[in-house]
Amino acid sequence: MTSLYRARIDRVRARMGELGVDAVLLSLGADLPWLTGYEAMPLERLTMLVLGASAEDTPTLVVPRLEEPRVERTGDFEVAAWDETDDPVELVASLVGRLRVNARRLAVSDPTWSRFLLALQRQLPDAEWLAASVVAGPLRAVKDADEIAALRRAGAAADRVAQQLVSGQIPLLGRTEAAVSRDVGARLRAEGHDRVNFAIVGSGPNSASPHHDAGPRVIERGDAVVCDFGGAMNGYCSDITRTVFIGEPPAAFRDLYRVLQDAQAQAVDAAVVGTPCEDVDGVARRIIADAGYGANFIHRTGHGIGREAHEDPYLVGGNCDPLVAGHAFSVEPGIYIRGTFGARIEDIVVASEDGPEALNAVSHDLAIVAG
Ligand code: ZN
Ligand code: ZN
Ligand code: ZN
Repeated sequence: MTSLYRARIDRVRARMGELGVDAVLLSLGADLPWLTGYEAMPLERLTMLVLGASAEDTPTLVVPRLEEPRVERTGDFEVAAWDETDDPVELVASLVGRLRVNARRLAVSDPTWSRFLLALQRQLPDAEWLAASVVAGPLRAVKDADEIAALRRAGAAADRVAQQLVSGQIPLLGRTEAAVSRDVGARLRAEGHDRVNFAIVGSGPNSASPHHDAGPRVIERGDAVVCDFGGAMNGYCSDITRTVFIGEPPAAFRDLYRVLQDAQAQAVDAAVVGTPCEDVDGVARRIIADAGYGANFIHRTGHGIGREAHEDPYLVGGNCDPLVAGHAFSVEPGIYIRGTFGARIEDIVVASEDGPEALNAVSHDLAIVAG
């Protein structure tokens, strides 16, 4: 593992050189575990890696004394534990001050709490601040073979739950969305997930609300039910959506679903290396718009996935970056008729030199479950 982290640190330093970034400061977020194997706790005590641009400066992880036992010593970084009465921000500032380069341009991990950044800005008034995603985002977006294998395993586990859903093994009729959501989460864990990130269950009119919070509504005959769920397995995320119908769907829903299924499949086919991200979005959007549902597709086609459920690259209008081999992302168009019903189909896809590889294999055909 150590050599893996060392190689990643080298790549980050190379990019820091290109961007003229003198130091990267990583607190919350996925950049830190990607580089060190250690994940900061989302608490009020500061954890922060100080990574200078020079290879002669050993990266230092500033960590609360009581969390120091959690840190696995890989040898790629030093640990500076701080005590309850110490000022960790002062400690970070002094480490920055001791770097070989005169650290003026500093990149801080995007999810770092503003209370820490504001305190750092007071301690380092001459520094210029950037988001660390500018440095690490494009590197982290390209997955290596082990990362793709981890995403594949997480996808296969999510698939087993999705298969239970579309085959009617997860009871829906007469249950609340919240009960089904808890059930789906438990099944994700039973299939090997360490963490459940979300389990959206939107039934009936709620199926037209893409990020609906599973609630007290009881699922009835005649409902479309959008289930979008995922979590993390060994640090890498899954994310899948399938839509099922309880009983016989009306013709209007069948029409909508046919268009959606075509749009999703063609967008996956379009996700070849070299294609601009926005063009994949464009393929799905054009098919949906041509069928008259353009105004009902109210979100981007997809997002990157890895250690975070949503990360680079985003498949959205305006993102002209080309797909490269190793990019992993969702392809998840949806069509939503406010107050009536909606549907979404989502798979995780990896771009490779051999073409797009879908990590989810559960059928996209409209699943009609007993009603
Ligand atoms: Zn979403
Ligand atoms: Zn999803
Ligand atoms: Zn997604």
